[in-house]
Amino acid sequence: KKSYGIHVWGEGNFIVEDGVVKVNYGNKPSLIDLTKGMREKGYKGPLLFRFPHLAAQNVRTLFKHFERAKKEFNYKGKFKAVFPLKVNQFPGFVIPLMEATKDLEYGLEAGSKAELILAMSYTNLGKPITVNGFKDREMISMGFLAAKMGHNITLTIEGINELELIIKEAKRLGSPTPKIGLRIRLHTGGIGIWAKSGGYSSKFGLTSTELLEAMDLLKEHKLTDRLSMIHFHIGSQMNHISPLKKAIREAGNIYAELRKMGADNLHAINIGGGLAVEYSQQEGQSSRNYTLEEFTNDVVFLLKEIANAKDVQEPTIFTESGRYVAANHAVLVAPVLELFSQEYSEEILRLKEKNPPLVQELYDLYRSISTKNAREYLHDALDHMESLLTLFDLGYIDLTDRANTETLVHLIIKKALDLLRNKPSKEIKAILDRVQERYLVNFSLFQSLPDYWGLGQNFPVMPLDRLDQAPTRSASLWDITCDSDGEIAFNLDNPLYLHDVDVENEEYFLGFFKVGAYQEILGMRHNLFTHPTEATVAFDEDGNYTISEITEAQNILDVLDDIDYDTKEIERRIRKLLEESNTIAEDEKKEILGELYLYLSENGYLRTINFSEGG
Ligand code: PLP
Repeated sequence: KKSYGIHVWGEGNFIVEDGVVKVNYGNKPSLIDLTKGMREKGYKGPLLFRFPHLAAQNVRTLFKHFERAKKEFNYKGKFKAVFPLKVNQFPGFVIPLMEATKDLEYGLEAGSKAELILAMSYTNLGKPITVNGFKDREMISMGFLAAKMGHNITLTIEGINELELIIKEAKRLGSPTPKIGLRIRLHTGGIGIWAKSGGYSSKFGLTSTELLEAMDLLKEHKLTDRLSMIHFHIGSQMNHISPLKKAIREAGNIYAELRKMGADNLHAINIGGGLAVEYSQQEGQSSRNYTLEEFTNDVVFLLKEIANAKDVQEPTIFTESGRYVAANHAVLVAPVLELFSQEYSEEILRLKEKNPPLVQELYDLYRSISTKNAREYLHDALDHMESLLTLFDLGYIDLTDRANTETLVHLIIKKALDLLRNKPSKEIKAILDRVQERYLVNFSLFQSLPDYWGLGQNFPVMPLDRLDQAPTRSASLWDITCDSDGEIAFNLDNPLYLHDVDVENEEYFLGFFKVGAYQEILGMRHNLFTHPTEATVAFDEDGNYTISEITEAQNILDVLDDIDYDTKEIERRIRKLLEESNTIAEDEKKEILGELYLYLSENGYLRTINFSEGG
């Protein structure tokens, strides 16, 4: 039995029960049932399930913890938060999130013009909008328009030139002027693989001199009352808490200094995002060294301490946690199409009348292997394989002998694993890890797990069923792109073991968890594989689930249209080639065209393999 570390990463949101993984909410549907439901509706290929209740729950947990910490330390400042759109801009995520958090001081953060339009459209009026990132005059005027629409918007400036633009726009457009935030350049650096956002060499933020300059400019143009927030972000997926504590001390003191210089409406410190998510599937390999309780306690305690020491009001605390809010809301389900070693069966052996002695010996091992001798025979088989492959390289055996060698060794491994199922040992594991099974999975790693490809970020992965049976194969996962990078190799530090299934006769699905942050928008259309079909699983008050908001993976023509092909031209070219062909009979042409049109209207993920219903 194996739970794939669900107690480490699952946070109680997914559980293993009756051999399947279930959503631990409402009537607890299993992911395998949800998947089968979608496939019965005709949606083949990879599926992305969204669980909006998890995103809403994450926001509430964040608020609850800050409220608890505030109470504990008798903190008088408020707590507010925004969701950074860069983490997930998709409607299936953003719209339900805003709907579910109306009662909280919760809004959206935008980092580009398109994101700002989303924030203006979907932030509940009066809830905070913050705008980060580099801005031109047009983006700043959009901020003024949002303020005119009644939005509670703060433009966080990344450099003095942006402040100068705000001053110009304030003269042109008059009030209401958006609130102004200053992004500060900390001397504290970030840590972890995403840690380029903090520190002196950071791309973002104002130096101390620039802060003084900004104060002068604000005073000169009578806009000091608009300065309401200072902001920093030390990097995503903070695995340690100490850099954050340093950054808070630094920011807290800057806040106090600016207030003393006359920034009377400066009342908020925005500590950015970075709250880490547990991606680990291994006990003792945690992705972060702090809990949410510790995180919130540290922030509140430190800010209180600084405010009291410097005798300024306790600031409103803002966060922009994105990964923490979005990651667990989405699960990718991908069908296994093939196990490579299944090509090896007894029927394909091409034994000769007289085989080379080592091949004959392999055959004898295969025939006589038993529980008692399994381990020894396995060793012998692997040794013989090495020798036989060398003999082939030296020209002493032929291709048929080599094929028989490969087949026999695979058959022996399979038989041995089966015989030793109840006697796992370190040594067997070591052998297994050498002879991994390769699972071909119907998805694109580039499209659906780009951070695995780019940064080696692990995402929890497990089969959706058979969880009451021991998995026997060390697994490496191959996606269907024609790129050798499209592989999740077997890794001894984080080993994945899967079941030995006969996919020609039974289905086997893998779930990749916590893919709701960054992955969707960073996903690439390498090989022209588009986003998977997505569906929202929502629960009503009685805990019954419904599947809605199904967005099918793009069909081939739409994908080509997206990269600016004239798809009518493509259709014309295909039709012309067919019409002008003199090798195809006239009545056949129509049939072929019909079949081609069918393919053009389907998505490009695989559907059928080995003539059984795959995909
Ligand atoms: N705020 C800013 C300014 C960011 O740059 C980022 C991400 O890089 C975030 C918030 C979100 O960070 P996270 O998703 O780690 O919470």
